[in-house]
Amino acid sequence: METRTCQNCKKDFNIEPEDFKFYEKMQVPPPTWCPECRMIRRFSFVNIRTLYKRSCDLCGASIISMFHRDKKLKVYCNPCWWGDSWDGTEYGMNYDPSRSFFEQMKELQSKSPYMALECTYTTNINTPYTNYTAWQKNSYLTYFGDYVENSLYSTILAHIRDCMDCYHIDESELCYGSIGGHKLYNCHFTIDCGDCHDVHFSRNCYDCSNCFGCVNLRNKNYCIWNKQHTKEDYKEKVAQINMASWQTVELTLKEFQEFSFQFPRRFYMGDSRNKKVSGEYVYQSKNAHDVYIGVGVEDSRFVQFLTLPKTKDAYDYTGWGNNSEKLYECCVVGEGASNCRFCSECFSNARNLEYCIYAANSSKDSFGCINLKKKQYCILNKQYSKQEYETLKFKIIGDMDKNPYIDEKGKVYKYGEYFPLILSPFGYNETIAQEYFPTTETEATKKRT
Ligand SMILES: [Zn+2]
Ligand SMILES: [Zn+2]
Repeated sequence: METRTCQNCKKDFNIEPEDFKFYEKMQVPPPTWCPECRMIRRFSFVNIRTLYKRSCDLCGASIISMFHRDKKLKVYCNPCWWGDSWDGTEYGMNYDPSRSFFEQMKELQSKSPYMALECTYTTNINTPYTNYTAWQKNSYLTYFGDYVENSLYSTILAHIRDCMDCYHIDESELCYGSIGGHKLYNCHFTIDCGDCHDVHFSRNCYDCSNCFGCVNLRNKNYCIWNKQHTKEDYKEKVAQINMASWQTVELTLKEFQEFSFQFPRRFYMGDSRNKKVSGEYVYQSKNAHDVYIGVGVEDSRFVQFLTLPKTKDAYDYTGWGNNSEKLYECCVVGEGASNCRFCSECFSNARNLEYCIYAANSSKDSFGCINLKKKQYCILNKQYSKQEYETLKFKIIGDMDKNPYIDEKGKVYKYGEYFPLILSPFGYNETIAQEYFPTTETEATKKRT
Protein backbone atom coordinates (compact mmCIF):
# COMPACT_ATOMS: atom_id res chain seq x y z
CA MET A 1 0.00 0.00 0.00
CA GLU A 2 1.17 3.49 -0.78
CA THR A 3 0.05 6.79 0.73
CA ARG A 4 -0.11 9.88 -1.46
CA THR A 5 -1.27 13.44 -0.96
CA CYS A 6 -4.27 14.57 -2.99
CA GLN A 7 -3.41 17.34 -5.44
CA ASN A 8 -6.82 18.89 -4.82
CA CYS A 9 -7.73 18.68 -1.08
CA LYS A 10 -4.16 18.06 0.13
CA LYS A 11 -5.32 15.17 2.34
CA ASP A 12 -3.57 11.79 2.29
CA PHE A 13 -5.13 8.82 0.51
CA ASN A 14 -4.06 5.21 0.08
CA ILE A 15 -3.47 3.22 -3.07
CA GLU A 16 -3.79 -0.54 -2.47
CA PRO A 17 -1.78 -3.22 -4.34
CA GLU A 18 -5.03 -4.29 -6.09
CA ASP A 19 -5.50 -0.71 -7.33
CA PHE A 20 -1.97 -0.62 -8.76
CA LYS A 21 -2.73 -3.85 -10.65
CA PHE A 22 -5.79 -2.18 -12.21
CA TYR A 23 -3.83 0.92 -13.26
CA GLU A 24 -1.19 -1.29 -14.82
CA LYS A 25 -3.81 -3.29 -16.71
CA MET A 26 -5.41 -0.09 -18.03
CA GLN A 27 -1.97 1.42 -18.78
CA VAL A 28 -2.70 4.59 -16.84
CA PRO A 29 -0.62 6.33 -14.19
CA PRO A 30 -1.87 6.08 -10.56
CA PRO A 31 -4.22 8.95 -9.54
CA THR A 32 -3.00 12.24 -8.05
CA TRP A 33 -6.43 13.13 -6.60
CA CYS A 34 -8.11 11.23 -3.73
CA PRO A 35 -11.17 9.06 -4.54
CA GLU A 36 -13.67 11.62 -3.20
CA CYS A 37 -12.17 14.56 -5.09
CA ARG A 38 -12.10 12.43 -8.25
CA MET A 39 -15.77 11.58 -7.78
CA ILE A 40 -16.79 15.23 -7.23
CA ARG A 41 -14.78 16.23 -10.31
CA ARG A 42 -16.79 13.76 -12.43
CA PHE A 43 -20.08 14.81 -10.80
CA SER A 44 -19.30 18.41 -11.87
CA PHE A 45 -19.90 17.34 -15.48
CA VAL A 46 -23.40 15.94 -14.93
CA ASN A 47 -26.45 18.19 -14.98
CA ILE A 48 -29.51 16.01 -14.62
CA ARG A 49 -32.26 18.32 -13.44
CA THR A 50 -31.38 21.98 -14.05
CA LEU A 51 -33.26 22.67 -17.28
CA TYR A 52 -33.92 25.82 -19.28
CA LYS A 53 -35.95 27.02 -22.23
CA ARG A 54 -33.92 27.99 -25.29
CA SER A 55 -33.90 27.53 -29.07
CA CYS A 56 -32.25 24.86 -31.21
CA ASP A 57 -29.27 26.39 -33.00
CA LEU A 58 -30.01 24.36 -36.14
CA CYS A 59 -33.79 24.34 -36.71
CA GLY A 60 -34.75 27.21 -34.39
CA ALA A 61 -37.41 25.22 -32.50
CA SER A 62 -38.21 26.28 -28.94
CA ILE A 63 -36.85 23.53 -26.69
CA ILE A 64 -36.00 22.46 -23.14
CA SER A 65 -32.29 22.04 -22.54
CA MET A 66 -29.61 21.41 -19.92
CA PHE A 67 -27.81 24.47 -21.29
CA HIS A 68 -28.85 28.00 -20.40
CA ARG A 69 -29.35 30.24 -23.45
CA ASP A 70 -26.46 32.48 -22.28
CA LYS A 71 -23.96 29.59 -22.43
CA LYS A 72 -21.51 30.14 -25.25
CA LEU A 73 -22.22 26.74 -26.75
CA LYS A 74 -23.98 25.50 -29.85
CA VAL A 75 -27.01 23.42 -28.80
CA TYR A 76 -29.15 21.27 -31.13
CA CYS A 77 -32.55 19.81 -30.28
CA ASN A 78 -32.42 16.04 -30.06
CA PRO A 79 -33.97 15.27 -33.49
CA CYS A 80 -31.38 17.63 -35.07
CA TRP A 81 -28.45 16.25 -33.02
CA TRP A 82 -29.22 12.64 -33.91
CA GLY A 83 -30.05 13.49 -37.54
CA ASP A 84 -27.70 13.17 -40.52
CA SER A 85 -27.59 16.85 -41.50
CA TRP A 86 -24.31 17.50 -39.66
CA ASP A 87 -21.10 15.61 -39.01
CA GLY A 88 -18.78 16.07 -36.04
CA THR A 89 -15.69 16.01 -38.28
CA GLU A 90 -16.84 19.34 -39.84
CA TYR A 91 -15.39 20.86 -36.66
CA GLY A 92 -12.11 18.93 -36.85
CA MET A 93 -9.01 20.82 -35.66
CA ASN A 94 -5.33 20.29 -36.35
CA TYR A 95 -3.36 19.42 -33.23
CA ASP A 96 -1.05 22.26 -32.14
CA PRO A 97 1.89 20.96 -30.05
CA SER A 98 2.66 24.48 -28.79
CA ARG A 99 -0.61 24.64 -26.78
CA SER A 100 -1.86 22.41 -23.97
CA PHE A 101 -4.21 19.69 -25.19
CA PHE A 102 -7.10 20.67 -22.89
CA GLU A 103 -7.00 24.28 -24.16
CA GLN A 104 -7.45 22.91 -27.67
CA MET A 105 -10.36 20.77 -26.48
CA LYS A 106 -11.90 23.90 -24.95
CA GLU A 107 -11.76 25.56 -28.40
CA LEU A 108 -13.40 22.51 -29.99
CA GLN A 109 -16.09 22.60 -27.30
CA SER A 110 -17.13 26.12 -28.31
CA LYS A 111 -17.65 25.03 -31.95
CA SER A 112 -19.23 21.56 -32.03
CA PRO A 113 -22.96 21.20 -31.21
CA TYR A 114 -24.19 19.66 -27.94
CA MET A 115 -27.45 17.72 -27.62
CA ALA A 116 -30.12 19.73 -25.77
CA LEU A 117 -31.04 16.89 -23.44
CA GLU A 118 -28.87 13.89 -22.75
CA CYS A 119 -30.89 11.04 -24.18
CA THR A 120 -30.39 8.18 -26.55
CA TYR A 121 -33.10 9.89 -28.54
CA THR A 122 -33.65 7.03 -30.96
CA THR A 123 -34.72 4.66 -28.15
CA ASN A 124 -37.20 6.97 -26.37
CA ILE A 125 -40.90 7.01 -27.26
CA ASN A 126 -43.19 9.89 -26.30
CA THR A 127 -40.84 11.25 -23.62
CA PRO A 128 -39.64 14.69 -24.77
CA TYR A 129 -39.25 16.03 -21.22
CA THR A 130 -36.71 13.62 -19.76
CA ASN A 131 -32.96 13.90 -19.24
CA TYR A 132 -30.20 11.25 -19.03
CA THR A 133 -32.54 8.59 -20.36
CA ALA A 134 -32.82 5.75 -22.85
CA TRP A 135 -35.46 3.14 -23.59
CA GLN A 136 -38.26 5.21 -22.03
CA LYS A 137 -41.91 5.24 -23.01
CA ASN A 138 -44.73 7.60 -22.07
CA SER A 139 -42.83 9.21 -19.21
CA TYR A 140 -42.54 12.80 -18.02
CA LEU A 141 -39.86 14.51 -15.98
CA THR A 142 -38.04 11.26 -15.31
CA TYR A 143 -34.27 11.56 -14.96
CA PHE A 144 -31.28 9.25 -15.13
CA GLY A 145 -33.30 6.20 -16.05
CA ASP A 146 -33.49 3.37 -18.55
CA TYR A 147 -36.34 1.06 -19.37
CA VAL A 148 -38.96 3.30 -17.79
CA GLU A 149 -42.62 3.22 -18.77
CA ASN A 150 -45.67 5.29 -17.79
CA SER A 151 -43.80 7.05 -14.98
CA LEU A 152 -43.27 10.60 -13.86
CA TYR A 153 -41.39 12.93 -11.50
CA SER A 154 -38.73 10.36 -10.59
CA THR A 155 -34.92 10.10 -10.66
CA ILE A 156 -32.31 7.26 -10.85
CA LEU A 157 -34.44 4.52 -12.32
CA ALA A 158 -34.05 1.20 -14.07
CA HIS A 159 -36.76 -1.15 -15.26
CA ILE A 160 -39.77 0.53 -13.70
CA ARG A 161 -43.33 1.12 -14.78
CA ASP A 162 -46.32 3.04 -13.43
CA CYS A 163 -44.28 4.83 -10.74
CA MET A 164 -44.44 8.42 -9.54
CA ASP A 165 -42.46 10.67 -7.18
CA CYS A 166 -39.74 8.07 -6.57
CA TYR A 167 -35.98 8.42 -6.09
CA HIS A 168 -33.62 5.60 -6.93
CA ILE A 169 -35.78 2.56 -7.56
CA ASP A 170 -35.32 -0.36 -9.89
CA GLU A 171 -37.22 -3.40 -11.10
CA SER A 172 -40.39 -1.95 -9.60
CA GLU A 173 -43.99 -1.33 -10.49
CA LEU A 174 -46.87 0.70 -9.08
CA CYS A 175 -44.84 2.64 -6.53
CA TYR A 176 -45.44 6.10 -5.14
CA GLY A 177 -43.09 8.18 -3.02
CA SER A 178 -40.54 5.40 -2.57
CA ILE A 179 -36.82 6.04 -2.06
CA GLY A 180 -34.06 3.44 -2.43
CA GLY A 181 -36.28 0.57 -3.62
CA HIS A 182 -35.32 -2.68 -5.30
CA LYS A 183 -37.92 -5.08 -6.67
CA LEU A 184 -41.02 -3.44 -5.24
CA TYR A 185 -44.62 -3.94 -6.31
CA ASN A 186 -47.43 -1.70 -5.15
CA CYS A 187 -45.39 -0.01 -2.41
CA HIS A 188 -46.00 3.52 -1.22
CA PHE A 189 -43.81 5.78 0.91
CA THR A 190 -41.09 3.23 1.55
CA ILE A 191 -37.43 3.92 2.24
CA ASP A 192 -34.70 1.36 1.53
CA CYS A 193 -36.99 -1.62 1.03
CA GLY A 194 -36.33 -4.60 -1.25
CA ASP A 195 -38.22 -7.62 -2.59
CA CYS A 196 -41.50 -6.37 -1.14
CA HIS A 197 -45.07 -6.05 -2.28
CA ASP A 198 -47.97 -4.13 -0.77
CA VAL A 199 -45.75 -2.47 1.83
CA HIS A 200 -46.55 1.09 2.89
CA PHE A 201 -44.93 3.71 5.11
CA SER A 202 -42.02 1.41 5.94
CA ARG A 203 -38.24 1.54 6.12
CA ASN A 204 -35.56 -1.06 5.62
CA CYS A 205 -37.85 -4.06 5.13
CA TYR A 206 -36.86 -6.98 2.90
CA ASP A 207 -38.88 -9.93 1.62
CA CYS A 208 -42.03 -8.54 3.19
CA SER A 209 -45.59 -8.22 2.00
CA ASN A 210 -48.69 -6.54 3.37
CA CYS A 211 -46.94 -4.46 6.00
CA PHE A 212 -47.80 -0.96 7.17
CA GLY A 213 -45.64 1.41 9.21
CA CYS A 214 -42.82 -1.09 9.78
CA VAL A 215 -39.06 -0.76 10.25
CA ASN A 216 -36.19 -3.27 9.86
CA LEU A 217 -38.36 -6.36 9.21
CA ARG A 218 -37.28 -9.49 7.34
CA ASN A 219 -39.59 -12.04 5.80
CA LYS A 220 -42.77 -10.80 7.45
CA ASN A 221 -46.32 -10.18 6.43
CA TYR A 222 -49.44 -8.67 7.98
CA CYS A 223 -47.53 -6.41 10.39
CA ILE A 224 -48.66 -2.96 11.48
CA TRP A 225 -46.20 -0.72 13.37
CA ASN A 226 -43.95 -3.81 13.66
CA LYS A 227 -46.70 -5.84 15.37
CA GLN A 228 -47.87 -9.14 13.92
CA HIS A 229 -51.55 -9.42 12.99
CA THR A 230 -53.65 -12.12 11.36
CA LYS A 231 -54.42 -11.70 7.69
CA GLU A 232 -58.08 -10.80 8.40
CA ASP A 233 -57.18 -8.41 11.20
CA TYR A 234 -54.55 -6.69 9.01
CA LYS A 235 -56.95 -6.23 6.10
CA GLU A 236 -59.64 -4.82 8.33
CA LYS A 237 -57.31 -2.37 10.10
CA VAL A 238 -55.63 -1.12 6.91
CA ALA A 239 -59.00 -0.71 5.16
CA GLN A 240 -59.99 1.73 7.89
CA ILE A 241 -57.17 4.13 6.95
CA ASN A 242 -58.39 6.51 4.26
CA MET A 243 -55.41 6.72 1.96
CA ALA A 244 -57.41 8.70 -0.59
CA SER A 245 -57.10 11.67 1.77
CA TRP A 246 -53.83 13.66 1.50
CA GLN A 247 -54.37 14.86 5.07
CA THR A 248 -54.33 11.23 6.29
CA VAL A 249 -51.19 10.58 4.22
CA GLU A 250 -49.41 13.56 5.76
CA LEU A 251 -50.41 12.58 9.30
CA THR A 252 -49.32 8.97 8.69
CA LEU A 253 -45.97 10.14 7.32
CA LYS A 254 -45.42 12.20 10.46
CA GLU A 255 -46.47 9.33 12.70
CA PHE A 256 -44.18 6.98 10.77
CA GLN A 257 -41.24 9.36 11.07
CA GLU A 258 -41.61 9.52 14.87
CA PHE A 259 -42.06 5.75 15.09
CA SER A 260 -39.04 4.97 12.91
CA PHE A 261 -36.70 7.17 14.99
CA GLN A 262 -36.77 4.52 17.73
CA PHE A 263 -34.94 2.09 15.46
CA PRO A 264 -31.28 2.08 14.52
CA ARG A 265 -30.53 3.34 11.02
CA ARG A 266 -29.31 0.43 8.93
CA PHE A 267 -27.78 0.98 5.58
CA TYR A 268 -29.34 -1.04 2.85
CA MET A 269 -26.39 -3.10 1.70
CA GLY A 270 -27.91 -5.30 -0.94
CA ASP A 271 -28.90 -8.87 -1.62
CA SER A 272 -27.62 -12.33 -0.73
CA ARG A 273 -26.09 -12.78 -4.19
CA ASN A 274 -23.31 -10.29 -3.35
CA LYS A 275 -19.83 -11.68 -2.76
CA LYS A 276 -17.07 -9.53 -1.31
CA VAL A 277 -18.69 -6.14 -1.75
CA SER A 278 -18.65 -2.86 0.14
CA GLY A 279 -20.82 0.20 -0.27
CA GLU A 280 -24.50 1.04 -0.33
CA TYR A 281 -27.26 -0.28 -2.58
CA VAL A 282 -25.22 -3.07 -4.13
CA TYR A 283 -26.88 -6.04 -5.80
CA GLN A 284 -25.73 -9.19 -7.61
CA SER A 285 -22.14 -8.03 -7.41
CA LYS A 286 -18.81 -9.57 -6.61
CA ASN A 287 -15.44 -8.19 -5.70
CA ALA A 288 -16.84 -4.67 -5.93
CA HIS A 289 -15.78 -2.07 -3.40
CA ASP A 290 -16.73 1.48 -2.50
CA VAL A 291 -19.88 1.18 -4.59
CA TYR A 292 -22.78 3.60 -4.33
CA ILE A 293 -25.70 2.11 -6.27
CA GLY A 294 -24.50 -0.81 -8.36
CA VAL A 295 -26.21 -3.81 -9.96
CA GLY A 296 -24.11 -6.64 -11.38
CA VAL A 297 -20.75 -5.01 -10.68
CA GLU A 298 -17.58 -7.13 -10.78
CA ASP A 299 -13.93 -6.45 -10.04
CA SER A 300 -14.53 -2.72 -9.67
CA ARG A 301 -13.92 0.08 -7.18
CA PHE A 302 -15.01 3.69 -6.56
CA VAL A 303 -18.10 3.39 -8.78
CA GLN A 304 -21.50 5.07 -8.58
CA PHE A 305 -24.93 4.88 -10.22
CA LEU A 306 -24.33 1.64 -12.12
CA THR A 307 -28.04 1.06 -12.44
CA LEU A 308 -27.95 -1.63 -15.13
CA PRO A 309 -25.92 -4.84 -15.08
CA LYS A 310 -23.18 -5.66 -15.95
CA THR A 311 -20.04 -3.70 -15.23
CA LYS A 312 -16.68 -5.45 -15.12
CA ASP A 313 -13.19 -4.08 -14.46
CA ALA A 314 -14.06 -0.45 -13.79
CA TYR A 315 -12.57 2.13 -11.45
CA ASP A 316 -13.79 5.69 -10.90
CA TYR A 317 -16.85 5.13 -13.00
CA THR A 318 -20.06 7.13 -12.58
CA GLY A 319 -23.08 5.82 -14.54
CA TRP A 320 -24.40 3.52 -15.81
CA GLY A 321 -23.18 0.00 -16.73
CA ASN A 322 -25.34 -2.06 -19.12
CA ASN A 323 -22.66 -4.50 -20.30
CA SER A 324 -19.69 -2.21 -19.93
CA GLU A 325 -16.13 -3.16 -19.10
CA LYS A 326 -12.59 -1.87 -18.75
CA LEU A 327 -13.42 1.71 -17.86
CA TYR A 328 -11.38 4.19 -15.89
CA GLU A 329 -12.39 7.73 -14.89
CA CYS A 330 -15.54 7.71 -17.00
CA CYS A 331 -18.81 9.45 -16.41
CA VAL A 332 -22.14 8.55 -18.04
CA VAL A 333 -20.49 6.07 -20.35
CA GLY A 334 -22.31 2.80 -20.89
CA GLU A 335 -24.37 0.39 -22.93
CA GLY A 336 -21.66 -1.81 -24.38
CA ALA A 337 -18.80 0.59 -23.60
CA SER A 338 -15.40 -1.04 -23.51
CA ASN A 339 -11.82 0.04 -22.89
CA CYS A 340 -12.48 3.76 -22.37
CA ARG A 341 -10.50 6.21 -20.25
CA PHE A 342 -11.30 9.78 -19.16
CA CYS A 343 -14.58 10.06 -21.06
CA SER A 344 -17.78 11.91 -20.39
CA GLU A 345 -21.14 11.03 -21.94
CA CYS A 346 -20.02 8.48 -24.51
CA PHE A 347 -22.63 5.85 -25.18
CA SER A 348 -23.95 3.07 -27.39
CA ASN A 349 -20.94 0.80 -27.89
CA ALA A 350 -18.16 3.31 -27.23
CA ARG A 351 -14.85 1.46 -27.76
CA ASN A 352 -11.25 2.47 -27.11
CA LEU A 353 -12.04 6.12 -26.48
CA GLU A 354 -9.89 8.50 -24.49
CA TYR A 355 -10.70 12.07 -23.46
CA CYS A 356 -13.93 12.13 -25.45
CA ILE A 357 -17.16 13.96 -24.66
CA TYR A 358 -20.41 12.98 -26.36
CA ALA A 359 -18.73 10.56 -28.73
CA ALA A 360 -21.90 8.53 -29.23
CA ASN A 361 -23.43 5.94 -31.45
CA SER A 362 -20.63 3.39 -31.93
CA SER A 363 -17.70 5.80 -31.88
CA LYS A 364 -14.40 3.97 -31.63
CA ASP A 365 -10.65 4.50 -31.35
CA SER A 366 -10.77 8.26 -30.90
CA PHE A 367 -8.95 10.76 -28.70
CA GLY A 368 -9.97 14.24 -27.51
CA CYS A 369 -13.20 14.47 -29.52
CA ILE A 370 -16.38 16.34 -28.61
CA ASN A 371 -19.76 15.66 -30.21
CA LEU A 372 -19.08 12.92 -32.68
CA LYS A 373 -21.20 10.07 -34.05
CA LYS A 374 -20.19 6.75 -35.63
CA LYS A 375 -16.52 7.67 -36.17
CA GLN A 376 -13.18 5.94 -35.81
CA TYR A 377 -9.58 7.21 -35.71
CA CYS A 378 -10.43 10.84 -34.92
CA ILE A 379 -8.42 13.32 -32.86
CA LEU A 380 -9.93 16.71 -31.99
CA ASN A 381 -12.75 15.64 -34.35
CA LYS A 382 -10.35 15.39 -37.32
CA GLN A 383 -10.34 12.15 -39.29
CA TYR A 384 -7.04 10.22 -39.65
CA SER A 385 -5.97 6.84 -40.99
CA LYS A 386 -5.31 4.09 -38.43
CA GLN A 387 -1.54 4.55 -38.70
CA GLU A 388 -1.70 8.36 -38.48
CA TYR A 389 -4.07 8.09 -35.51
CA GLU A 390 -1.80 5.78 -33.51
CA THR A 391 1.29 7.94 -34.15
CA LEU A 392 -0.39 11.25 -33.30
CA LYS A 393 -2.12 9.85 -30.19
CA PHE A 394 1.24 8.61 -28.89
CA LYS A 395 2.79 12.03 -29.51
CA ILE A 396 -0.06 13.90 -27.75
CA ILE A 397 0.18 11.68 -24.66
CA GLY A 398 3.89 12.53 -24.49
CA ASP A 399 3.15 16.23 -24.96
CA MET A 400 0.48 16.18 -22.23
CA ASP A 401 3.15 15.08 -19.77
CA LYS A 402 5.74 17.59 -21.03
CA ASN A 403 3.36 20.51 -21.45
CA PRO A 404 0.45 19.84 -19.05
CA TYR A 405 -2.56 22.06 -18.56
CA ILE A 406 -2.22 23.92 -15.24
CA ASP A 407 -5.39 25.41 -13.78
CA GLU A 408 -5.75 28.74 -11.96
CA LYS A 409 -5.01 27.07 -8.61
CA GLY A 410 -1.85 25.42 -9.91
CA LYS A 411 -3.26 21.91 -10.21
CA VAL A 412 -1.43 20.00 -12.90
CA TYR A 413 -3.32 17.96 -15.50
CA LYS A 414 -1.00 15.49 -17.19
CA TYR A 415 -2.14 12.40 -19.11
CA GLY A 416 -4.07 10.35 -16.55
CA GLU A 417 -6.24 13.10 -15.07
CA TYR A 418 -9.94 13.45 -15.81
CA PHE A 419 -10.95 16.68 -17.59
CA PRO A 420 -10.26 19.97 -15.82
CA LEU A 421 -13.36 21.96 -14.85
CA ILE A 422 -12.91 24.41 -17.73
CA LEU A 423 -14.33 21.64 -19.91
CA SER A 424 -17.51 21.20 -17.88
CA PRO A 425 -20.32 23.02 -19.67
CA PHE A 426 -22.08 23.53 -16.33
CA GLY A 427 -21.76 25.59 -13.18
CA TYR A 428 -21.18 23.54 -10.01
CA ASN A 429 -24.68 24.38 -8.73
CA GLU A 430 -26.31 22.99 -11.89
CA THR A 431 -24.74 19.56 -11.44
CA ILE A 432 -25.15 16.52 -9.23
CA ALA A 433 -21.98 17.64 -7.42
CA GLN A 434 -24.20 20.26 -5.76
CA GLU A 435 -26.85 17.62 -4.93
CA TYR A 436 -24.40 15.29 -3.21
CA PHE A 437 -21.74 17.74 -2.03
CA PRO A 438 -23.58 21.04 -1.60
CA THR A 439 -21.60 24.21 -1.39
CA THR A 440 -22.34 27.94 -1.43
CA GLU A 441 -21.46 30.32 -4.25
CA THR A 442 -18.73 31.91 -2.13
CA GLU A 443 -17.20 28.52 -1.30
CA ALA A 444 -17.39 27.36 -4.92
CA THR A 445 -15.74 30.55 -6.18
CA LYS A 446 -13.05 30.20 -3.54
CA LYS A 447 -12.41 26.61 -4.64
CA ARG A 448 -12.04 27.62 -8.27
CA THR A 449 -9.70 30.58 -7.74
ZN1 LIG B 1 -8.82 15.06 -2.33
ZN1 LIG C 1 -33.47 21.38 -34.05
